[in-house]
Amino acid sequence: MNEDTAHHLLPSMIRRIVVVALVVFCTAEIGILTRPIGFFATLWPANAVLLGLFVIRPSLAGPWGWVAAVLAYLAAGHVSGDAPLLNLWLTAANLAGIVAGFILLRRLDAEDRALQRPSSVLRMLLVCIVAAVAAAIAGCGLGLLVPSSLPRVGFAYWFTTELANYVVILPVLLTLPEIPARGVMLDRLARFRPSLATIMPVVALGLSVVGSIVIGGPGAIAFPVPALLWCSLTYGLFPVTLLVLLSSLAMLGAETADLFRFVHVEDLIDSATSFRLGLTLLALGPLTVATITAVHRKLMLRLDRAVRMDGLTDILARRAYLDQSAALLSRPRPGFWSGVAVLMIDVDHFKQVNDRYGHASGDAVLVAVTDAISGQLRRNDLFGRIGGEEFAITLPDIASADAVTLAERLRHAVERLSVKVGEGQPIRVSVSIGVVHRSRPPAGGLIELLPLADAALYEAKATGRNRIVLCSSSCRAMAAAE
Ligand code: GH3
Ligand code: MG
Ligand code: MG
Repeated sequence: MNEDTAHHLLPSMIRRIVVVALVVFCTAEIGILTRPIGFFATLWPANAVLLGLFVIRPSLAGPWGWVAAVLAYLAAGHVSGDAPLLNLWLTAANLAGIVAGFILLRRLDAEDRALQRPSSVLRMLLVCIVAAVAAAIAGCGLGLLVPSSLPRVGFAYWFTTELANYVVILPVLLTLPEIPARGVMLDRLARFRPSLATIMPVVALGLSVVGSIVIGGPGAIAFPVPALLWCSLTYGLFPVTLLVLLSSLAMLGAETADLFRFVHVEDLIDSATSFRLGLTLLALGPLTVATITAVHRKLMLRLDRAVRMDGLTDILARRAYLDQSAALLSRPRPGFWSGVAVLMIDVDHFKQVNDRYGHASGDAVLVAVTDAISGQLRRNDLFGRIGGEEFAITLPDIASADAVTLAERLRHAVERLSVKVGEGQPIRVSVSIGVVHRSRPPAGGLIELLPLADAALYEAKATGRNRIVLCSSSCRAMAAAE
């Protein structure tokens, strides 16, 4: 390593250490603030947040990252007045869970880690169970240090609290989207217009959480489930993980404040522990539904794209081009309309390209030609592959002279192309273009314009190729004769 790289590495390493230490210290302090009685917290976000952070940002999980985490746990405990032995033991128990979770999560593949498969939530649950067991084994003996808390700090209590924290917090980090650039974010915010249908599920969730707390009783734990399922079917995966976290926190908080007014029985586990375990397991349903919904949405988008787009050139396939153009012409934008043009484009002597250079090179030429043409088009123009080396473009809201100028630009762009395939000579091609323009949307729609553009293309071929022809009276007569 030279001195320069050392200079670069040091600040970034210090930054990572500071990030880990701050995250652990702050989340541990939040946990300590929620310790209801004795020394054991109900909400302990530090472990799940640190585990999630280490998994999604592996660069933070180097040896110094772990050291920073240990020191931050100890510092948080010290600031809160924990005795040294208790502090060390608590930190060791916390780390036992995180290390177990980290090893297991790293063994899952990236898709499962980001909860991208229907079974991912169950796999994550298994990891959380193992992490919670590890923490509980390491921590349950702590009751010996604080005799007054003994009955509450059993294995079951420790395990359930750890499990609850992991299950509701970890998914938020694992599905955290990349933070978009500032401009993109502001643009999205400016265009954010929530409809009633998008607000209703979250309102229903809020109401059902309040309803659970007000009505109370053993069934209250499940009251938010329908609203959570509604949210899972409406929102993306990340917002759902956030809503699961918030509603679970509200319910856990209400339970800690004894708002559910359970009859406390000390059976194998007490009712508070049982409640927490139930709440945790209920969260898995909406999380799984959200995962499946996200997988389904992604598949539908891919399927839709596969049907709409041409596999080779990635422009509209014939059917999609015809449908979208027909729709565009039947509902022109309100306001000023300067006309519509349809261009029919055919690569000249393309058969010779295939014969001379082979079919694969012919494919590469088609891709290069469509790329060159796409680069010249506006966002609303429709560009489709009609057949082998034939393409059509619908240009909405364009004057006749501008359509001709654009067609000339397209012809020129292809003429300038020089497609290098393998070691041989670069391949050069040209296109002929037929143009038809109408100042008003045609009564017969696209069906009326396509034969005219085709006739103009035929004329361009007949008069020498590598040229454009605007449909005139002769081409109209030709189209009428067909
Ligand atoms: P013209 O100037 O009159 O249009 O001559 P041309 O050779 O381009 O016309 P013709 O219709 O005789 O030949 C078109 C050729 O396009 C024939 C066919 O093999 C080829 N072709 C069609 N689809 C594809 C494709 O997807 N990939 C490749 N490489 N060739 C294709
Ligand atoms: Mg051709
Ligand atoms: Mg052809």
